[in-house]
Amino acid sequence: MKHRESTYASPVTDQRNKMARTFDVVVIGAGPGGYIAAIRAAQLGLSTLCIDAWKNAAGKPSLGGTCLNVGCIPSKALLESSENYERVVHKFADHGIGVSGITLDVAKMQARKDKIVDTFTTGIALLFKKNKVESMHGFGRFAGTVEDRYVIEVAGEGAVETVEARNVIVATGSLPRGLPGVEVDNELVCDNIGALGFGEVPKRLGVIGAGVIGVEMGSVWRRLGAEVTILEALPSFLGAADEQVAKEAYRQFTGPLGLRIYTGAKVASVTRGKASVTVEYEDREGTRHVTEFDRLVVAIGRIPNTGDLNAESVGLRLDDRGYVEVDSSCRTNLANVFAIGDVVRGPMLAHKSSEEGVAVAEMIAGQAGHVNLATIPWVIYTSPEIAWVGRTEQELKAEGVAYRAGQFPFIASGRARALGETAGFVKMLADASTDQILGVHIIGPFASELISEAVVAMEFGASSEDIARIVHAHPSLSEAMHEAALGVDKRALNI
Ligand code: FAD
Ligand code: AMP
Repeated sequence: MKHRESTYASPVTDQRNKMARTFDVVVIGAGPGGYIAAIRAAQLGLSTLCIDAWKNAAGKPSLGGTCLNVGCIPSKALLESSENYERVVHKFADHGIGVSGITLDVAKMQARKDKIVDTFTTGIALLFKKNKVESMHGFGRFAGTVEDRYVIEVAGEGAVETVEARNVIVATGSLPRGLPGVEVDNELVCDNIGALGFGEVPKRLGVIGAGVIGVEMGSVWRRLGAEVTILEALPSFLGAADEQVAKEAYRQFTGPLGLRIYTGAKVASVTRGKASVTVEYEDREGTRHVTEFDRLVVAIGRIPNTGDLNAESVGLRLDDRGYVEVDSSCRTNLANVFAIGDVVRGPMLAHKSSEEGVAVAEMIAGQAGHVNLATIPWVIYTSPEIAWVGRTEQELKAEGVAYRAGQFPFIASGRARALGETAGFVKMLADASTDQILGVHIIGPFASELISEAVVAMEFGASSEDIARIVHAHPSLSEAMHEAALGVDKRALNI
């Protein structure tokens, strides 16, 4: 066994090895990182096993990890449903459309969401079949090495099965970060799982943490009628976003959307009652507040899921926060063991996990896989949507990079006016001397779709002038990107 830095290898009994099947690649975890890695590996002719432990609410194995079961997909289904409700109740009148007798059937909304999830999770099983990926339900953990192979034990419904792998891809994802001393029951005190499953609209919803999950979940239930209060420990709001975007988001979320967001709030205690939860917190001035909620969502971030991997049995190195340590190519300290997605450094985003999965599968097959972390798009699916790629204005300032900025507001876009979605803007940042695009920041309608043009541009090393010289359809939201690019050279035409 050749370890890159570790020399530890635990012995494995001969008895167990006689039973073990050997694969070129064993992937642990079938989230968007793991299942995509497995498919790509199999496409490249490698015998591939994907082990996954997820069970859905009905107790059935369900592929797709956090993203498909309790993350990206169900949250976007509910965001769309709640946005439609908001449109009917508050926005249709502007179009001259009067609607009476509006009803809200939360159970049906949830059933629609569940059906979407089910379609995709069962779809992965079909994709595995089509691509000849072997799928095994159970919890996988390292159990030592034999010659040049890693031994992995899989605890499923029956006896523990042992398999051997020439290459291992750890794709075990992440878990919600808990608030010390606060037990999540997903009835009154919820994480993302409970927050996506309410059977009725809570009258008073508390959310701890104003990150991506907190504001998305808060938006869903606010639009459906809940009074939503978000408590954020940091003094700033959406710290990872461009400051100007975060400021506009705060204005929109606390204004038209009606979220109550308190930054600099220190939660002192959470007390569960029979049918409500009492939260005691200190505001930024140090004043103590005691607030009662019908439901509470704890959304204070996510932690890497490495606790039960038995990493120490093979000497797999984790950092002090529990992430698997990897280099820029997702290689761990062990030969032929890779780790991808939420369980390693970088943004906790599904598309980042998947791209790392593809890259690693290609590297194992002898190709040159690569993921450019500098051009990963970030999206927050609120209304207005927020999306960005590259560096923020505050990062460029801190790094002392000379840049020029162009900005175009959606209020000046014909298409945005027609949509009735005029809040927000597109901002482009380009290097002052080379004009290369360094970052693009959008808050506004369909930001999640618009950002792709900026990602392509940055991947190709485009300048703002390149975008300025490309013909954009009229009337379309993409014209805002065009005008922001023109704005970098102070020659915007429609503002
Ligand atoms: P996961 O999706 O967490 O999958 C890991 C899988 O491994 C799970 O099935 C788990 O059961 C399994 N597993 C773990 N340990 C073992 C083991 N030892 N043996 C067997 N199986 C194991 N990202 C976006 O890009 N866009 C979004 O819109 C978005 N929305 C989100 C909304 C919410 C509410 C949440 C919670 C997250 C959202 N995310 C979003 C983040 C996204 O879900 C994650 O970045 C993504 O799921 C990470 O993929 P992964 O494959 O690394 O891990
Ligand atoms: P994200 O990482 O996008 O899921 O965001 C999590 C958010 O929760 C961040 O804005 C954190 O600052 C915030 N947060 C973390 N711990 C606490 C806490 N104890 N109370 C309130 N907010 C918190």
